[in-house]
Amino acid sequence: MQDTDPAVLSVLRQTFGYDSFRPGQGEVIADLTAGHDAFVLMPTGGGKSLCYQVPALVRSGVGIVVSPLIALMKDQVDALHANGVAAACYNSTQDSEEARRVLAQLHNGELQLLYVSPERLLNSSLLERLADIEIGLFAIDEAHCVSQWGHDFRPEYAALGTLRERFPAVPLVALTATADKQTRSDILRVLHLNDARIHVNGFDRPNIRYTVLEKHKPFDQLIAFLRGRDSQSGIVYALSRKRVDEIAERLSNAGVSAAAYHAGMSAKRRAEVQEAFLRDDILVVVATVAFGMGIDKPNVRFVVHYDLPKNIEGYYQETGRAGRDGLPADALLLFGAQDVVTARRLIESGNNNDQQRVETHKLNAMIGLAESVTCRRRVLLNYFGDRHQEDCGNCDVCDDPPQRFDATNDARKALSCVYRVGQRFGIKHVIDVLRGADTERIRLFGHTQLSTYGIGSDRSEIEWQSILRQLIHHGYLEQDIAHYSALKLTEDARPLLRGDEELWLAKPRMQEKPAGKRKSSSVVAPADEALFEELRQLRKQIAQDAGVPPYVVFGDATLAQMARERPLDDDAMLAISGIGQHKLAKYGAEFLDAITAYCVDSNDSALNLTPLHRRVLQAARDGLDLDQISGQCAQTLGDTSRILVELIEAGEAVDPQRLIAPRKYAMIEALLDDSDGEPDLADLRAALPPLIADHEIRLVCAAW
Ligand code: ADP
Ligand code: ZN
Repeated sequence: MQDTDPAVLSVLRQTFGYDSFRPGQGEVIADLTAGHDAFVLMPTGGGKSLCYQVPALVRSGVGIVVSPLIALMKDQVDALHANGVAAACYNSTQDSEEARRVLAQLHNGELQLLYVSPERLLNSSLLERLADIEIGLFAIDEAHCVSQWGHDFRPEYAALGTLRERFPAVPLVALTATADKQTRSDILRVLHLNDARIHVNGFDRPNIRYTVLEKHKPFDQLIAFLRGRDSQSGIVYALSRKRVDEIAERLSNAGVSAAAYHAGMSAKRRAEVQEAFLRDDILVVVATVAFGMGIDKPNVRFVVHYDLPKNIEGYYQETGRAGRDGLPADALLLFGAQDVVTARRLIESGNNNDQQRVETHKLNAMIGLAESVTCRRRVLLNYFGDRHQEDCGNCDVCDDPPQRFDATNDARKALSCVYRVGQRFGIKHVIDVLRGADTERIRLFGHTQLSTYGIGSDRSEIEWQSILRQLIHHGYLEQDIAHYSALKLTEDARPLLRGDEELWLAKPRMQEKPAGKRKSSSVVAPADEALFEELRQLRKQIAQDAGVPPYVVFGDATLAQMARERPLDDDAMLAISGIGQHKLAKYGAEFLDAITAYCVDSNDSALNLTPLHRRVLQAARDGLDLDQISGQCAQTLGDTSRILVELIEAGEAVDPQRLIAPRKYAMIEALLDDSDGEPDLADLRAALPPLIADHEIRLVCAAW
């Protein structure tokens, strides 16, 4: 940030209330401000909007933003208004009077940002009008819409190439989250961006935690997942409309604020659901993949895939709708053997061989991700060519590596059972025979007479499902999709059956790690939960009165920081990320009142603790050690431990054992144990080696 243009910094801080850039933003903003063209590839939630909004405010003239998503324009403009920016949109949903008013503002030089749809920009006299107006920059959002190869081609976008010739002196930026190389080169070619500075940011979404569970009674698994995520927004994706309706209804019956969304519903109903979701009136939307393109809601806390996505591209895009605000978010995939069969059948029913090959390849990659026993994020990012050598520490595999067990015997039982039933039956029947079930089919085929009947009664249905599925994926068994997914042995099964080979498999995992044992995915610490909830209510009220979605008032990240730091005056409020001058003036007082009232009511020591104290306390409770805390809070080691001593003396629970090296702690503790009465600092100092610093001794004494 040292070399950042002071005008840029001032807009970032005063207008948007952010104190630093997200990765990649600073460079793009510098290029555009200096008048260069740019191409920006940034993952969803990376903060693309700011990349053109800041330069548009710094440069003179109006910034013209082209966006295909008319539904989102209004929200963007509302959000800019909330920050005191003169913005407007110009699209086909406006009546002629409104449109005239916007054009008048444009001519009078009153606008800083204008959002237009591509049709409006190109098929009207607007282009000619713009020739007489000072333009600060052009931003083409969702720029992948120019590409015929993309999933979202829009013919109007192709005509935007004319901008580069018509306005040679105006910088132009194209932004997208779509990754592949073909699309990227299409964008540069179609928009005539020959000299653009290219900014490609990684695909990683570090705040999203990936989890895959073996699917078994998926609705119960979903309910278990939702427990403890009471007031969080999320999306549940399912494959068919029928299933979407069914899940939404069952969720509603279970008391979850949920609604269905799919292409079979009326446009009106869909718009209602979307709106209610944006406004936090509905928390969970159950949807087919149709839902999401127009969703820019930053505080989606989780995305659940109830069924297996067809490919990693889709999975990544859908999970990417979680956590745009940068706060912790969850992506849960329920992965079942039957889903693989269904997906394969769907592909085989197509009649284009090339396409089938590609789709099968992509499906296999998706299955590979779901089956992965290494870090999910590495698998995911490697798929996109974004090499990651390190485990991420924020996925189910990193958190709780799969346990393996010697499955040689079980595998042998399963394989011989497949053989005995004549390699003509699917997973379900094989399991029934193994477990000695009494079904009509078993009776019909006389399978009670088989030597393998009932030899697997010691294992549950779920366990056998997992074993058979893994045998398929390890290549010992094949599913004959043309014949009702009948299981067949492969050549590889022979040595295992003969007893020449051992096999270790992963234990099935049906439940998330218990909340206490996994890294918390909640947005605030338990101690701040109640205040956070109150601030959310206040935000909702204000948003409702103003007719905007709650996140336009303040994002969740801003509210969470407020709940944590509990600002009690304007300066402390301005220090919170997401609060600029305009929002302070507009909403500051109401939120300050709410925080003060809360602190008084709950007799909270926040009234005496400075924001710095709170930050240090939070960091200590997060389990950081002294070094890390002083780094994070930009304090010297001495000052940090002085603050910690004050916190301990004020009765806050801080565990010194986590703060300093265990050996050092043990040495100080041993001396304290031996001494009786008040510990004497000077005595301790003299008795301890110089390697142990004064402040460390003081810290342990305070806690003692
Ligand atoms: P994208 O368009 O790339 O998906 P957005 O522009 O919608 O992402 O930004 C995502 C979220 O990140 C928004 O809630 C925005 O307020 C927030 N954000 C963007 N830049 C910053 C920043 N520098 N500091 C803090 N929050 C930011
Ligand atoms: Zn990981």
